[in-house]
Amino acid sequence: MAKIPCAVCGKELGLLSGKVKISDGAICTNCLSSAGISMLSNNMTYNQQSINELISTRKKIVENFSSTKSVGTYIQVDENNKSFKIGKDIFSYENLLSFELLEDGQSITKGGLGRAVAGGLLFGGVGAIVGGVTGGKKSKGICNSMKLRISLKNAHTDVVYINFILTETKTNGFIYKAAQDSAQKCITALETISDINQSALNQPVYAPQSVSSADEIVKFKNLLDQGIITQEEFDAKKKELLGL
Ligand SMILES: [Zn+2]
Repeated sequence: MAKIPCAVCGKELGLLSGKVKISDGAICTNCLSSAGISMLSNNMTYNQQSINELISTRKKIVENFSSTKSVGTYIQVDENNKSFKIGKDIFSYENLLSFELLEDGQSITKGGLGRAVAGGLLFGGVGAIVGGVTGGKKSKGICNSMKLRISLKNAHTDVVYINFILTETKTNGFIYKAAQDSAQKCITALETISDINQSALNQPVYAPQSVSSADEIVKFKNLLDQGIITQEEFDAKKKELLGL
């Protein structure tokens, strides 16, 4: 069996080294990761060109990262380049799917699905829920773990965690309070990113006047192909759209 090179970096793809098929060849797992693509994604939707574009976009995000806002060492946000850093990992705003605060494995609050989708009041004010629910658990007196689970999309990894509490901690103590405070600030930062993503989604994809004649013709061609309009009607519409 002939060895083929990675379509992106040219490294030889052996039988043992990771090899990922894309629509027009194969690439190494390093390049897949540099492009910010998860192993679990459908790699056949990518080709050599789109992988190269993703790699350069990601490289730009990583190289240009400059934090404008941060919550301790937990999360850093680069508001100018619309990216955020957790640990050593940098993601673009678009990578953020959702997040969930877990205390001893139990879901305390969720977010990121968009306030419009969630109906706003379902999750309520972030502060209210974090304060309220954890407040209700005080009778237990001990917390063994508090972490924020962040789900990502179109990224090299599908989930990252921010840990606030990793060992047995009294819920009436200073450490717990500080963790709660940090968690809340991280949630607020993520909620802000999520809102920006959401408002970008809600914007019309195109203004009506920007629809090109070519797009319109394609639409009518589809109608013709489906037998909804006749050839004559299509020809007339095409002439009109082209201004003939
Ligand atoms: Zn490669």
